[in-house]
Amino acid sequence: MAKTTRIAVVTSPGLTHLVPILEFSKRFLELHPNFHVTCMIPSLGPHPDSTKSYLQTLPSNIHSILLPSINKQDLPQGAYPGVLIQKTVTRSLPSIRETLKSLTLREPLAALIADAYAFEALSFAKEFNFLSYIYFPSAVMALSLCLHLPKLDEQVTGEYKDLKHPIYLPGCVPVFGRDLPFPMQNRSSDAYKLYLERSKGFSNGNGFIINSFLELESAAMKALAKEKSCFSFYAVGPITQKRSSSNPHSSVLYVSFGSGGTLSQSAINELALGLELSGQRFLWVLRAPSDSPSAAYLDNQKKEDPLKFLPSGFLERTKEKGLVLPSWAPQVQILSHDSVGGFLSHCGWNSVLESVQVGVPIITWPLFAEQRMNAVLLVDGLKVAVRPNVGEDGVVEKEEISKVIKCLMEQDEGKAMRKRMEDLKAYAADAVKKDAGSSTHALSQLATKWENFSEIEDNN
Ligand code: UDP
Repeated sequence: MAKTTRIAVVTSPGLTHLVPILEFSKRFLELHPNFHVTCMIPSLGPHPDSTKSYLQTLPSNIHSILLPSINKQDLPQGAYPGVLIQKTVTRSLPSIRETLKSLTLREPLAALIADAYAFEALSFAKEFNFLSYIYFPSAVMALSLCLHLPKLDEQVTGEYKDLKHPIYLPGCVPVFGRDLPFPMQNRSSDAYKLYLERSKGFSNGNGFIINSFLELESAAMKALAKEKSCFSFYAVGPITQKRSSSNPHSSVLYVSFGSGGTLSQSAINELALGLELSGQRFLWVLRAPSDSPSAAYLDNQKKEDPLKFLPSGFLERTKEKGLVLPSWAPQVQILSHDSVGGFLSHCGWNSVLESVQVGVPIITWPLFAEQRMNAVLLVDGLKVAVRPNVGEDGVVEKEEISKVIKCLMEQDEGKAMRKRMEDLKAYAADAVKKDAGSSTHALSQLATKWENFSEIEDNN
């Protein structure tokens, strides 16, 4: 029997950071069963039930360790989720180090793979002698931005959003400052400082494992590999929770803003009336309103019934056409259903990949994090999405919503987007094909590298 090669994974708190890196681990182990993964999971408070039930579904060659939750008393109230996530990982570093120490005392580790927010764990590579990587659960374009950020920070004076010209990242579609990730919208914020620090910290590792695929972002990938040749880049996606082979087309618009995105009350009103005005069928996953779009992100508490925030009479008037589900729905299953023909999405990267895998074109409604940049990639780069114009008060008006819905669901422009999404769907399927797929190949390269590293260590 082949020798077992051991690797470790460090996640950051929150299900949407935990799931992608563990889905990567599952995919890697499916293809390379002679590996074993130990996963360390930091947490802001007690580990949520949703995390525990997800962990129960993992195969036996992934061992998870729930790290002690951190002391959160002096953390800033209502801080941007990215700041809380980052601080949680930083404060968990002593327990990550202790865990690595006891693991390596038993048997050497070939590699450590850290979520982007857990970049500080890369610094343990020298002490415990393993290779180290960032698992980047978003687009190559977003990674390119991070790797160019230290330079941009030096070169650009003032706010990025005030720049008159777009930013050109090698091999990527041009992106205006206003579409850069949320932390970059205010350079004096803590969120920006941490984002910059994180981007600089990435360079302590050996490379990047990215949940994208060559055929989706080949120019960006090639440019990075050429320009930043001191790192290895592995595009291993799309990796999402469950793949589907159905072939959706047709009539229902699925509306959802990820695991924690929330709309303001006025945005909910306009969206409801816009859906009604469009006359299209829809399935809307609705959360109670908040003025902070990321308010529900790390919040597991049950909220008020979201349906009571809909405009009066809306449910009755749309009952033949639409369905509104409170808070959460099984997205992957819904998207892969034959009747779903469009996705109004906040453009979280997992949602983007899930939509690509089933060939469903998108209406972009970015809220926070790097979602605006993902929207630019989808609309301007890949041309598989339509982006509504936002009114001066920051709200998209019902007429505009109805217009983009009709454009996507009924008109030739929408059909052309669906056709291009179908092509991407085929490329995505090719990328993960068993033998010849580009992402499968990238995973094999990693396996070989880690096995060789481990053998050299054994012989020393
Ligand atoms: N998701 C889901 N049901 C929901 C909302 C989200 O299953 O009602 C899943 C979705 O399929 C995706 C993840 O949660 O896998 C959201 O990740 P994404 O990167 O799109 O957005 P984030 O939650 O990080 O903002």
